[in-house]
Amino acid sequence: MSLSLDATQLDRYSRHIIMDEIGPEGQARLLDSRVLVVGAGGLGAPVIQYLAAAGVGTIGIVDDDTVERSNLQRQVIHADSDVGTPKVESAAAFVADLNPDITVESYDTRLSKANAEEIITDYDLVVDATDNFPTRYLVNDVCRLAGIPVSHGAIYKFEGQVTTLVPGGPCYRCLFPEAPAAGTVPDCASTGVLGVLPGTVGCLQATEAIKVLLETGEPLVGEMLSYDAMALSFERVPYRPRADCPICGDDPVDSIDGIEYSEGCRVGGADTASR
Ligand SMILES: [Zn+2]
Repeated sequence: MSLSLDATQLDRYSRHIIMDEIGPEGQARLLDSRVLVVGAGGLGAPVIQYLAAAGVGTIGIVDDDTVERSNLQRQVIHADSDVGTPKVESAAAFVADLNPDITVESYDTRLSKANAEEIITDYDLVVDATDNFPTRYLVNDVCRLAGIPVSHGAIYKFEGQVTTLVPGGPCYRCLFPEAPAAGTVPDCASTGVLGVLPGTVGCLQATEAIKVLLETGEPLVGEMLSYDAMALSFERVPYRPRADCPICGDDPVDSIDGIEYSEGCRVGGADTASR
């Protein structure tokens, strides 16, 4: 019954293995899985932490930032001694210390139209832990065209959103056909965020990722879970596929070549005047 698991792994993952819903087969499947986490910040931190602890065997991490002291209020895989080091480096060191079973593939770069297909299509599932609309649409589009599921999360002050995007279900563009206009949505840096909020939302994203990898339970497909930390309330809002969706509708594009990923919806940067 041990499959490919060694004695140390049988011990490490024993609380997974004793459950019928996972078992040694499910654990072996997690160890064989490849998940890409886009963003090693507030959402990425708990996602990386729990996927590594759960034994997701290969974790790709994309981020071009360095650790700043103002990150530490919420980005719990980075420590004070990491300030000034690349987040992918700090994240990889955290994972190595937590679980030597895990292979980390680091991309110290910003996910862009030029590199997204090459990086993403090597993975079984992508966790969208980004903080901006252009990257969310880019992740959605590349993943859907390649048939890769996405665990999506977003945070704003005291509120969070989670949804799971799988082939056959509606995509992020079906939910939000257009990004908010430039200047209408502030980012974390300019508005602040409750430190524990991304912990809650990231843990939900990690839960969904593991369910999809194990093909168990009911993933949050075609519904957006909306979380209000102030009221401590959760609400599920259904959404449908759109026939006119350019990515998953009746007449989809066959590549991202013609799509523009504008940075204009980011607020607080110097480029707010760009389209
Ligand atoms: Zn769509």
